Amino acid sequence: MAKREVVESSILSIIPETPRVNTYRLGIPSGAFSFMAGQFVMASIPDFLREDGRPVRRAYSIASSPLDLKSGHLDLTITRVGEGGYFSNRIHESKIGDPVLIEGPYGKAFHMAYPPESFPERYLFVGSGSGIAPLRSMIRTLLKESCPVPIELFYGYRHGTDCIYEEEIKEWQAKGVRVHLSISGSLSPDQVFTGSYGRVTSILPERIPSYSGQDVFICGPPSMVEQTVGFFQGMHFPEGSVHKEQW
Ligand SMILES: Cc1cc2nc3c(=O)[nH]c(=O)nc-3n(C[C@H](O)[C@H](O)[C@H](O)COP(=O)(O)OP(=O)(O)OC[C@H]3O[C@@H](n4cnc5c(N)ncnc54)[C@H](O)[C@@H]3O)c2cc1C
Repeated sequence: MAKREVVESSILSIIPETPRVNTYRLGIPSGAFSFMAGQFVMASIPDFLREDGRPVRRAYSIASSPLDLKSGHLDLTITRVGEGGYFSNRIHESKIGDPVLIEGPYGKAFHMAYPPESFPERYLFVGSGSGIAPLRSMIRTLLKESCPVPIELFYGYRHGTDCIYEEEIKEWQAKGVRVHLSISGSLSPDQVFTGSYGRVTSILPERIPSYSGQDVFICGPPSMVEQTVGFFQGMHFPEGSVHKEQW
């Protein structure tokens, strides 16, 4: 991975998403950084060093749109790994104003150029867990650009309280995005949920009967991505129409 320029940013705000996930909104000086929706950065924290004195660096998908840079910010949505987690636990202890170093952008294979050379019939996004982060970057971009083709999102997470961007997803729905939510765990007693039960991969067959010109972006853990790609291959989606990222 060829090294890119390092940009010094600081935390403007910390948005709690779920009990284990926060979005870190980083201030980026005007003109200091550019990227395409779907790409990722290597993040580090000054003075947070490995035993050999080198910075602890981790990859994070950029969760905001390139258009958000005009408002001077870039978002990273980070799950606290908990036991054994190193960087994610450290950033979850940080506070507003703390510095974060951003190096990038990286990720040529998984990105969405806007405007595209030609529009697909539909943009289709399939994510699970924090895999929704780069998809949010793409969906925000499409909505900000008033994209003329339909947008559809399949998003799976474990328990009812694990929905990342819950309020923003409702705003997307209000703007016409077709959203399918699915949970593989349980709901809290007072929660109302109108989505499906089971893994996100299990609801695809009944809702996507055939290939009809969709451009597909998939992000999540390796097993979910493998199953989802397998589904689209089985449906004879052209290879170039299916894009994936996993971690
Ligand atoms: C392209 C890309 C994009 C990503 N985007 C995001 C994102 O948007 N949001 C997000 O939350 N994460 C993202 N990740 C994952 C992220 O880079 C980190 O891996 C994650 O935050 C965990 O880092 P950590 O330092 O907290 O944990 P680590 O210290 O790296 O540990 C992670 C897990 O591995 C285990 N582990 C560590 N070392 C060992 C070992 N030697 N043997 C066995 N187990 C071990 C730990 O117990 C822990 O469970 C992305 C990864 C990639 C590659």
